Amino acid sequence: MPNIENSILQKITFSAIKEKNISLYIKREDLIHPTISGNKYRKLKYNILEAQSQGKKTLLTFGGAYSNHIAAVAATGKECGFKTIGIIRGDELGNNIEETFLSNPTLKYAHDCGMEFKFVTRAVYRDKNSEVFNANLKNEFGDFYLIPEGGTNELAIKGCEEILSKDTDQFDYVCVSIGTGGTISGIINSAKEHQNVIGFPALKGNFLEGEIRKWIGEKLNWKLNFDYHFGGYAKTTDKLIHFINNFKQETEIPLDPIYTGKMVVGVVDLINKDYFAKGSKILFIHTGGIQGIQGMNAILRKKNKQTLKL
Ligand SMILES: *Cc1c(COP(=O)(O)O)cnc(C)c1O
Repeated sequence: MPNIENSILQKITFSAIKEKNISLYIKREDLIHPTISGNKYRKLKYNILEAQSQGKKTLLTFGGAYSNHIAAVAATGKECGFKTIGIIRGDELGNNIEETFLSNPTLKYAHDCGMEFKFVTRAVYRDKNSEVFNANLKNEFGDFYLIPEGGTNELAIKGCEEILSKDTDQFDYVCVSIGTGGTISGIINSAKEHQNVIGFPALKGNFLEGEIRKWIGEKLNWKLNFDYHFGGYAKTTDKLIHFINNFKQETEIPLDPIYTGKMVVGVVDLINKDYFAKGSKILFIHTGGIQGIQGMNAILRKKNKQTLKL
């Protein structure tokens, strides 16, 4: 089972910023569980309790082909005794399922955990929150507890409010990567007044501020930095891959290429540009995502690009 005691605070010494008078720590949410890692566990926790109290037997959710959320729901379902169904973007993935499993470690893992898949076209996937689609799912799969794409809902925010604790009150800045905005919303809600939360979106898009505002009321101690998405969701560059490998070699901390790697590049760059006042204490939230490295490496290998060290 996931264990939040594993989420330790760790001091980071990194040569790229050693001349700067900044103290840098990371909260290792990635160590909560090998696959139900980081924020995905926080987001699922109260949803699982709710599904259990409603007497549901099945969890149904949505995701892309390499989704950390899909892996987390599949593993959680297995550990907590739920049947799981994943609605996956990309109908072509269903054409030859054995081949898909060979080239996609995330779906293979979810399958091995017992998840059943329904592969849909990108157009259908885009329409996944419509009433018609939902009614069709009920017809096809019967009764289920629905968890939205990326896992973000009110109970997920409640879980993410538990990421910060007394131990993290000492920090001036809390830095976190953003997909749907659920995780940062929980962090903003539980951050202390003297703390600034900075979010680094892993994708392009100006809808995020509105999404976050839905969950946080009138809070003002946060901002988003859109400068480090590296071209968009799941896009990478050689520079990013090189940074992540170098960071791992120096600190022994693995970062994922889709979320945490981009955020850490961003913070290190901002430190070097003297964005933070001298003496600032900065906390990274390591939201996990390590399960996605193998899938990304398979893609990079196909393009003859440098891969991530495991
Ligand atoms: C899903 C995910 C995020 C984004 O979380 P949101 O709550 O969707 O903003 C960040 N980091 C990792 C590793 C993730 O898997």
